[in-house]
Amino acid sequence: MSVRCAHPPCGATHDAARCPRCGWPRDASLVRDPDFLEARIDAIARRLPPHLEDRHQSLPAEVGVEAFQLVLQERLGLSAVHLRSGAPGHDALGDEGIASLAARDPDRTVVSRYLDPRAPGVLAAGDVSVCPAVGWRPDDPAFEPVWAELEARGARVLARTGVLATGHPGSSVLGEPLAWDPVCRRFPRLRLQLCGAGGAVAYEHVARMLAVHPSVRADVSGPGVRALDRWLRLQVDVDWSRVAWGNDGHPLTYPASLTLLIHTLDRHGAGGLLHGLLRPSPGW
Ligand SMILES: [Zn+2]
Repeated sequence: MSVRCAHPPCGATHDAARCPRCGWPRDASLVRDPDFLEARIDAIARRLPPHLEDRHQSLPAEVGVEAFQLVLQERLGLSAVHLRSGAPGHDALGDEGIASLAARDPDRTVVSRYLDPRAPGVLAAGDVSVCPAVGWRPDDPAFEPVWAELEARGARVLARTGVLATGHPGSSVLGEPLAWDPVCRRFPRLRLQLCGAGGAVAYEHVARMLAVHPSVRADVSGPGVRALDRWLRLQVDVDWSRVAWGNDGHPLTYPASLTLLIHTLDRHGAGGLLHGLLRPSPGW
């Protein structure tokens, strides 16, 4: 009997022991099996560059998840991991958990603290993560001082885009990437990263944002792999130099996410983009 693959960004329906797209096991007990994980990493190892980067990692607030993250980033040879702090109440690891994890591997982790511009408080140094879909519009004039300060500091703003997960209050309409367009026109040097590249819904809007705003970047993390699939399938004009990859999920999903990335590129004859997505240029 066919089942839907349990790796959320994948979406394949299949009747095999392992998903043909991402390798996720049908037997859920294998997900945490070290031998299984090792075999999945071995299967893609020859395709990966020696020092890949994860430009958007968000972790579930689960006991012990930090240890899994450290093991996987070591095993995969990740040279940089950008940890995005989750919105409070969204079951994602928040500022404290992210900071504690980063302190255990400071050489390759970069932290973005959660920011709600409705209550910005004193802005901490470094990058920030934001999620308009919880209930605010990026172009609200009240937030201009916040964007102005972040632009002046050269901080990266990691903005969640696309459809909000089930069960959370807010509005997916506010996750629309084009909602950032007025902000980018007002603050043209604001380093905005559109996380998830708009997913399966707003991928074209993200491609246009990249085209008109030189300071904007996008990552094909999590559901963003669907944006990648649509860009390639529909031959959308995308500035690939400003697109990177991220895991955006439990560290145990690294092998499946990378397998899905490779599968998606290969399916469209675009394997040549792989190393650029996994090793963005220094100015990214
Ligand atoms: Zn799958």
